[in-house]
Amino acid sequence: MNYETVIGLEIHAELSTKTKAFCSCEYKFGGEVNTQCCPGCMGMPGTLPVLNKNVVEYALRMGLATDCEINKISKHDRKNYFYPDLAKGYQITQADIPICENGRVEFYHKGEKRIVRLTRIHIEEDTAKLLHDDSFKGTLLDFNRSGVPLIEIVSEPDLRSAEEAKDYLEAVRMLLMALNICNGQMQEGTIRCDVNVSVRPVGEKKFGTRVEMKNVNTFSGAMLAIEYESNRQINLLRAGKNFSQETRRWDENKNASVTMRTKEDAADYRYFHDTDLTPIVIDDEWLAEIKNSLPELPVAKFDRYRSMGISEAESWLLAENSDKAEFFEKCTRVGNFPAKTIAHWIFGAITARLNKSFVTIEKSPLTAENFCEILSMIEKGILNNDTGKIVLDEMFTNGGSPDEIVQKLSLVQVSDEEELKKLVEEVLKNNTQSIADYKNGKKNAFTFLVGQCMKASKGKANPQIINKLINELM
Ligand code: ADP
Ligand code: ZN
Ligand code: MG
Repeated sequence: MNYETVIGLEIHAELSTKTKAFCSCEYKFGGEVNTQCCPGCMGMPGTLPVLNKNVVEYALRMGLATDCEINKISKHDRKNYFYPDLAKGYQITQADIPICENGRVEFYHKGEKRIVRLTRIHIEEDTAKLLHDDSFKGTLLDFNRSGVPLIEIVSEPDLRSAEEAKDYLEAVRMLLMALNICNGQMQEGTIRCDVNVSVRPVGEKKFGTRVEMKNVNTFSGAMLAIEYESNRQINLLRAGKNFSQETRRWDENKNASVTMRTKEDAADYRYFHDTDLTPIVIDDEWLAEIKNSLPELPVAKFDRYRSMGISEAESWLLAENSDKAEFFEKCTRVGNFPAKTIAHWIFGAITARLNKSFVTIEKSPLTAENFCEILSMIEKGILNNDTGKIVLDEMFTNGGSPDEIVQKLSLVQVSDEEELKKLVEEVLKNNTQSIADYKNGKKNAFTFLVGQCMKASKGKANPQIINKLINELM
């Protein structure tokens, strides 16, 4: 019998607000332990939480970007459980009335558009961090992360493979970053997920028994966890064994999941309204303001770039890189060059030159105006692609406008046939073997000869004329 895998994800994303969810502590990853906390976020009795308005705004940004219904009134609840990283004995979260419900995330999987429905997005707080110290075989607590705001993005069980889940995760990460509400740094644990997996015989409508895996910190880990768990379940079913719903822990070192707890239910957490906090009431005006401030979303951007004739790979790069996208957009306004040409330059020569100088495009000497000047000189035949790159390089190295650089380095493209003829004759005279090779059917001997001529001209020859002359003179 063949089985189908069914996956639903609960993604926890740390919000990049300046201060924590319910106190005024600032939080930055990597700070010295226990320096970014106060009695409030350490769970001292007698302290009272005050909700950070930016947390609500960030959650609403995500909710609006994923077409959620917004609950104009929502509230906070306590999820009660004991664990050393949760000093006050409960986590402030949202249970029966989350801030956002019934949304959808659009993404691409294998070149095709997919939709995953969102059950809900709610606000909650992060826990402290346990530090396991081998030097004395004990565990220490760092409260810096305690009370950092999270949104939990819960999907419907709409995913069907590990690869599809990874593409969805990547789309959510890109969305969070585009909305400027989460830094997306996986290695800092900013995005973590619980992976729910079940299997069912192909064609079966009813879902199988679900297993939830906690502690998945990377997207590749999520894929491994899904594959591992789905194989484990299929093998059990094939062997005629049943298994029950449980929570397992994904072990990244062993690449295996182990039982954490069985039969855990919402009732076990004894959720109840946290009356230390007032309900969250959202007025229409504020909501409209947030809606209007949303940027163009990555998938929409990607679709737009594709429709401009830019390749799939470069369209994604543009959708992901806001500074390069901004530069690209400016270029399309300054001049009338093909979008594809601009994108090629940005992700080819320009990116290479930026990397060489370790600068971003904004901090570089390059502007849409002076770059378009280079393109315009190429279009007019004053420069070719090679000398265009020399101009670009010189702008970074010694500065100056493209015009000045072309004069200074006397880079004007040579299109004079008489002058180039002498050069081609010389190259042909010195490469008789390549001519023979070409005549014997070796096509790349021709490309070699063109290259030699371009080199002899220090990149300044007009390549079309060189091509023509080699043909004629050979
Ligand atoms: P909780 O984890 O708090 O028990 P839910 O029961 O609502 O919450 O389920 C959480 C996640 O499990 C959701 O992402 C949902 O899509 C997923 N899920 C539910 N049923 C299944 C199933 N049979 N197979 C795979 N995932 C499932
Ligand atoms: Zn605090
Ligand atoms: Mg869960």
